[in-house]
Amino acid sequence: MSQSYHVITYGCQMNVHDSEVLAGLLENMGYRRAGEPEQADLILLNTCCVRETAEERILGRLGELQRLKRENPDLILVVAGCLGQEAGSVERILRRAAQVDIVMGTHNLHRLPDLVREVLTGRNGNGAGTLVEIWDEPAGEQWRQGLPIMRERGVRAWVTIMYGCDNYCAYCIVPYVRGRERSREPADIVAEVDDLAKRGYREVVLLGQNVNSYGLDLEPGPGPGRRFASLLRELDKTQGLARIRYTTSHPRNFGDDIIEAVADCGKVCENFHLPVQSGSSRVLGLMNRHYTREDYLALVEGIRRRVPGAAFSTDVIVGFPGETDKDFEDTLELVREVRFDSAFTFAYSPRVGTPAARAPDQVAPEVKQDRLRRLIETQNEISLEINRAQIGREVEVLVEGEAEKAPGMAAGRDRVNKLVVLSPPEGTTVTELVGREVVVRVEKATTWSLEGRADSP
Ligand code: SF4
Repeated sequence: MSQSYHVITYGCQMNVHDSEVLAGLLENMGYRRAGEPEQADLILLNTCCVRETAEERILGRLGELQRLKRENPDLILVVAGCLGQEAGSVERILRRAAQVDIVMGTHNLHRLPDLVREVLTGRNGNGAGTLVEIWDEPAGEQWRQGLPIMRERGVRAWVTIMYGCDNYCAYCIVPYVRGRERSREPADIVAEVDDLAKRGYREVVLLGQNVNSYGLDLEPGPGPGRRFASLLRELDKTQGLARIRYTTSHPRNFGDDIIEAVADCGKVCENFHLPVQSGSSRVLGLMNRHYTREDYLALVEGIRRRVPGAAFSTDVIVGFPGETDKDFEDTLELVREVRFDSAFTFAYSPRVGTPAARAPDQVAPEVKQDRLRRLIETQNEISLEINRAQIGREVEVLVEGEAEKAPGMAAGRDRVNKLVVLSPPEGTTVTELVGREVVVRVEKATTWSLEGRADSP
């Protein structure tokens, strides 16, 4: 009987996609997916360490999973991802969960099958203990290219275009756990997207910690697509594909060539996720973000001038070391001025090993929480106003499936990535609409989503 596996994923889209690769490697070994951890012979946690809360949640879950291991000593427990890669984390992991079989990082995904085999062999009396394999340097492209990917079924597929980040923002652990920027060859990306469109995926989301700098590390070479803007133009030619999105951008090098490409390419959607982090130029300097409040506002204005219907979302950190009441007011002011459709909002969380964690003037937790509350209130008001202004208008929705909380209703996203719940046209089922773009007249709005009616398929 084939063995089964269960993958638990934490963190960003990059991790979601890495989990698809890790699942693909296990499927290639003959493992099959188990719906629940309790049913699995192998449980893999693909971890995140971007904030303290994330690490605590993972270590807590590992503690719980130890119970399953006591009940079934043959269970294999694997810790992969950024927490595995983070310096000094292995001790913290094994202190909380000594029965973990494998700890691996972000640079050696392709090694999973060999490590699992080593554990299984070790069980035959060679004395296994915990296998720890963390690579300091990322595996070369030859290791990542062509790895099996167990993709989620659906209309959207994740496509990594680059790994790592060279920006070293003062609060961020990512460059230390994901390594320097490495771009994939454009021809490999174009081939992958072409194959996905042929297999019926209608939307691709291009992934990178900082997609704007795609290609900057590539050797000069033949063919188009060796910069982000030209890659978008290449992918826009893909037959059968309806939409292209990308995440995450950095305001620092979001050049005119990218804005022009978004404006010119019909498939590239008009939502811009541009993490601002703070509205205070002084704090942006302390964060090592390499742009000012004025630069950011000018970029947004430039995009709005060139791309009709452009919508913005962002990331904001409050309570960064040294942030004053005035700095925070600058952040609130910027949020009101830009009017983001949505924002991911965080209270600063010190990460060991980052410059900001060593900064003297840490902000008190209650001050952070109060600023976070005020920021969320401000942003929610704006999100609701923007969504309410859509009532009576038509939006184009790529249908993904049945609405989670409304049986018989369909759900999908409009061109600016807003969730839309819709009632199918008379005589049409939700299944018939999946993968199709339909025009929806908006009738209702909440802070997070729109609701409406599709007149014709
Ligand atoms: S751009 Fe900054 S915040 Fe984003 S991953 Fe890189 S270092 Fe971290």
